[in-house]
Amino acid sequence: MAGVIEAQIANKIQQSSPPSIFDCFTMTVQGRAPQNNVKCRLNKDLSAELWNYAGNRFTTLRATLSRQDIKEILDDIENANWSFDAGSYRKVKTVGLWRTVYDYNNRQLTYNNGMRAPEESVFCDKCGLLLRADCVTVDHHKPQVGGGPQAILKLFRALNLTKAGPEGHRGQQVWKQTSFAARSGAPKASGTQYDRYTMNDHGDLFLSLVNWATALASLEEKALNHVLNLRPMCIHCNTSKGNALAFI
Ligand SMILES: [Zn+2]
Repeated sequence: MAGVIEAQIANKIQQSSPPSIFDCFTMTVQGRAPQNNVKCRLNKDLSAELWNYAGNRFTTLRATLSRQDIKEILDDIENANWSFDAGSYRKVKTVGLWRTVYDYNNRQLTYNNGMRAPEESVFCDKCGLLLRADCVTVDHHKPQVGGGPQAILKLFRALNLTKAGPEGHRGQQVWKQTSFAARSGAPKASGTQYDRYTMNDHGDLFLSLVNWATALASLEEKALNHVLNLRPMCIHCNTSKGNALAFI
């Protein structure tokens, strides 16, 4: 079954009958930002191109995504194993990649009466306390309210759509298992924080395609509820964590 974003793009393509030209946008932690003197074009074969644009003419080709590239990126973003929605994100506890990254395992835990029993258990990602899995909440790393752009940039980083690659273990693990990013080899150097939060030309082109199909809200929901943006947290940390937006 096609994902939500894929369906919105397919619908837009049907209405517009390519070749289609549309505006270029990038994203910063503040949100979507228009790019002047750059345009995007979707060709008849459904490949997309990013062009420098001057005096009503396409001048220099900056980036191309083939139809297959676009399909792979969409699959990495919204395949059912990695991506949830606001109502189903707790199911991430069953995702192998997530369990590996957070060392979610069966361990012998000690009880008050000296009994030891095997329990599914995981460490709180903030304070490090080991807890039985059913005592742990699933927290959105970038918050559901206001964290959309940051969540998109974090996801794009693991898909080779930002200038610098992922810094953390989690992003690098996802990189290795994605189709589009993995084709370009090992994760790029993590670089400066600015470059980790700045999109590359492929990122701008893909985001502009999503924007053209009015699917940005769907992308935001997918990014917020993606395996990359969900982490185990104890209830104490979850209720006292303050404003996560402060820590980009
Ligand atoms: Zn904690």
